[in-house]
Amino acid sequence: MSAAARITDIGPPDFKQFLPPVLLKNYGKWDYHEIVEPGVLKHVAFGGDEIYSVRIASARLHSTAWIERVLQIADKYCDGYLRWTTRNNIEFLVSDKAKVQPLVKELKSKGYMVGGTGKGITNIVHTQGWVHCHTPATDASGVVKAVMDDLADYFTGVKTLPAKLRIALACCLNMCGAVHCSDIAILGVHRKPPRIDHAAIKVQCELPTVVASCPTGAIKIKPKEGTVEVNQPRCMFCGNCYTMCPAMPLADKEGDGIAILVGGKISNARSMPKFSKMIIPFIPNEPPRWPQVVKVIRHLVEVYASHAKKHERMGDWIERIGWERFFDLTGIPFDMKCIDDFRLAQNTLRNSPSFKW
Ligand code: SF4
Ligand code: SF4
Repeated sequence: MSAAARITDIGPPDFKQFLPPVLLKNYGKWDYHEIVEPGVLKHVAFGGDEIYSVRIASARLHSTAWIERVLQIADKYCDGYLRWTTRNNIEFLVSDKAKVQPLVKELKSKGYMVGGTGKGITNIVHTQGWVHCHTPATDASGVVKAVMDDLADYFTGVKTLPAKLRIALACCLNMCGAVHCSDIAILGVHRKPPRIDHAAIKVQCELPTVVASCPTGAIKIKPKEGTVEVNQPRCMFCGNCYTMCPAMPLADKEGDGIAILVGGKISNARSMPKFSKMIIPFIPNEPPRWPQVVKVIRHLVEVYASHAKKHERMGDWIERIGWERFFDLTGIPFDMKCIDDFRLAQNTLRNSPSFKW
């Protein structure tokens, strides 16, 4: 693929220019794929054609210089054809089998992590964090970097797990990071209601919109004063009001931190999806390396690795042994703040002990 066909030069929409010829030839006719080695997948078409994808870890935020270096490698080994996966990995699409091992060798020699396939940990899906969203209770990229640095062996295949393990991070309850359906979820939580700047709210905010933004009905207009009040026991610290009204910030150094949830997964052909459940209500923010979060995640991974059966996802393992045994095995103290589920949202969003302590 020529440099002119890169994503930055898209002209008329024509997805075909981004597909290697072998993918185009076999469009919709792919039979199966297999993992040749950690980070290398072979995809086979019904007619016997093959293409390899070589996966490396990648961050969500890059410099253009970093991307340019990756593109140069792609030009050298796979005519520039590469793609980003939903978990921010990069996959080089190699049509020539003879180029797979030289590509892997060059990637490793330059410090790229090849892996993220099979029974291990692939990249962490995460949100914006302190980089640019307005309601985060924690950072995203920084926490993910610290956790993945610690778990690198599970990405590269040096260590394996009973089944794949998906970790996700969302930096507030809005959960842009799909944490509710991941094996281990790192969730930013606020613990204090919004503060109201009564002078600013009069000029910055439309009061009926602010009231309507609250999912628990906790905000009431004070007509005489031209401001609002928050019924604090009803507040679940979601930050929706701040989205509508910059005069109601709720970020707080002591109040903000991280909760850990486990046991979620999306569905496959053999089992039902599961929602993750809270096991640790609060860990304070500890930039730049988040030592407590890193330690807890590693501990959870290791306990799961040594007790789950082959092919058993974390949620399936916990369901088999029971939550009581899970708390025993991990040594994590059970707390009433952990009693929650997402099934009765209308009720639990207002009353859940997890979200309003
Ligand atoms: Fe913003 Fe919340 Fe999404 Fe994080 S999870 S990016 S704070 S809306
Ligand atoms: Fe309502 Fe959420 Fe604002 Fe609390 S933080 S007052 S629950 S909108």
